[in-house]
Amino acid sequence: MDDCVFCKIVKKEIPATVIYENEKILAFLDISPINFGHTLVIPKKHFPNIYETPDEELCAMTTVAKKIAQAIRDALVADGVNIAMNNNHAAGQLVFHSHLHVIPRFTNDGYEPWRSRKPYKENEAVSVAQKIKESLK
Ligand code: AMP
Ligand code: ZN
Repeated sequence: MDDCVFCKIVKKEIPATVIYENEKILAFLDISPINFGHTLVIPKKHFPNIYETPDEELCAMTTVAKKIAQAIRDALVADGVNIAMNNNHAAGQLVFHSHLHVIPRFTNDGYEPWRSRKPYKENEAVSVAQKIKESLK
């Protein structure tokens, strides 16, 4: 994809602070980190989002995300880590090249991504679960 910023990073047309790579995957620091060490794990091939990323590539992304999470924990003495993937505009995706965020977390670092919750009313959970289960068949 010619106009994709992450494809340009893979092709070394624009710089990135690379921390790991293998045959399938590249991992580099997010240019605008939530915490220092915030890393993006991408497939070297272009897929726009999770729906279009083959399982094999997703598995490779996850394997590397775990490696990075362990390295962040040990090297940066992180207290925790968030692994996140935004898919489509509604979920806040800005770069339409599949990627996992590996975000080091520190006790009381002030980042609160999971605050807003919507409680189910009576039977709503059952009805939502039923719809999802039907679609899984
Ligand atoms: P998302 O909202 O999941 O699509 O996030 C895209 C992420 O890519 C953001 O966190 C950006 O800060 C990051 N980003 C965009 N351009 C670059 C770049 N050239 N190098 C490193 N990270 C980038
Ligand atoms: Zn791309």
